[in-house]
Amino acid sequence: MSATATKPINAYDVALENFDLAANALGLDDNIRAMIKYPERILCVSVPVRMDTGKIVRFEGYRVQHNTMRGPAKGGIRYHPNVNMDEVKALATWMTWKCAVVNIPFGGGKGGVTCNPKEMSMGELERMTRRYATSILPLIGPEKDIPAPDVYTTPQIMAWIMDTYSMNKGYPVHGVVTGKPISLGGSLGRNEATGRGVYFTTLSSCEHLGILVKGARVVVQGFGNAGSVAAHLLDSASAIVIGASDSRIALYNRNGLDIPKLIMHKERTGSLKGFPAAEEITPEELLSLECEILIPAALENAITEENAPAVHTKIIAEAANGPVTPEADRILNQKGVFLIPDILCNAGGVTVSYFEWVQDENHLFWDEQDVNAKLEKVMTRSFADVLRIHTDKKVDMRLAANMLGVSRVAEASRVRGLYP
Ligand code: NAD
Repeated sequence: MSATATKPINAYDVALENFDLAANALGLDDNIRAMIKYPERILCVSVPVRMDTGKIVRFEGYRVQHNTMRGPAKGGIRYHPNVNMDEVKALATWMTWKCAVVNIPFGGGKGGVTCNPKEMSMGELERMTRRYATSILPLIGPEKDIPAPDVYTTPQIMAWIMDTYSMNKGYPVHGVVTGKPISLGGSLGRNEATGRGVYFTTLSSCEHLGILVKGARVVVQGFGNAGSVAAHLLDSASAIVIGASDSRIALYNRNGLDIPKLIMHKERTGSLKGFPAAEEITPEELLSLECEILIPAALENAITEENAPAVHTKIIAEAANGPVTPEADRILNQKGVFLIPDILCNAGGVTVSYFEWVQDENHLFWDEQDVNAKLEKVMTRSFADVLRIHTDKKVDMRLAANMLGVSRVAEASRVRGLYP
């Protein structure tokens, strides 16, 4: 699970600790805490798959609905060897506060299958996806719980889930997943939405701190969907992306990496490996590069108490979920690093997922400019909302975002009341 940590850190413990900090800062009633702190529903499924060799291999899958007070559960599906129940619970919990921070009418959910998709053929992936989708079918649906892509899941995988769900229902149900291909009711702009949201919140942070984007040095850990799009947009705004990494290699060029070429190289070869005009460095060196903007965009626990002292940046933009541990938060705070917390920074993805769901439900589709403009409005407004709490209450940005998210869910719970 950890990108660089030496001892395992449980992401769910981190999620619970951050909830407690926010609830304490808000002076939240114990009764409300009892209602909203823990997942509402947890499903663990066995996913047997016939591999290309004819052998049947069993995978473990999960779907967690953390909270549905403000709307249907919403959250991605992750395919990764380190997926486990606690990780999915943590990610579902963060989705609840994230949807509330950007004020969209969804609750939090998450799913995953413990597998290594890099070692699976397309046929194996399709059979696993369809079997997993069938197993979680009782939980999902456009009014109940709407999955989306996460690490190593793609629009094609969303299409297979949509098809499996629709075949079981007997009619097409586009709104059951988001992040679908455009030909199947996907939204223009969804694929880039997470990185674009990272970009908008980074621009707002630079403005707040008086940092010029032009010439600002950027480092990106994890050059996937979220990381590469954020890098591309910042590069287009004349920032200089001096470092980037994926699961195999970390690259550095003090004059700036050629981002459009790096994206093409990754698309062509599947990795950053072998890219010319860059120096290979270690993953640890990447995170300690002197820069203005550091974007962890891979997995949880990338920045821990061990490597946080070596971080030399002015801004950390958390494109990934949970990349900074609470101990590292304290160290970075003392160093004066400005943090754009995950539940704000990477909320562009779920925001455009919400737009996709709205378009599917209405059978009416928007053009890309419209989507991007609406996203910018949501992200800059949400950034301002969190910043206001940060400055008014004199709390760090993570606590400010958690206070905003938790307070909105708490208010919904209070007015709905406890059933029965
Ligand atoms: P992705 O599969 O497109 O990319 C992940 C990238 O991280 C890959 O390039 C992979 O090689 C790299 N990586 C994996 N382990 C690494 C390591 N130890 N060091 C460096 N790089 C490593 O996934 P994504 O969708 O971009 O998701 C990345 C993060 O963003 C995750 O934390 C995810 O939960 C979060 N996120 C994604 C979305 C979305 O819409 N895709 C939305 C919100 C949050």
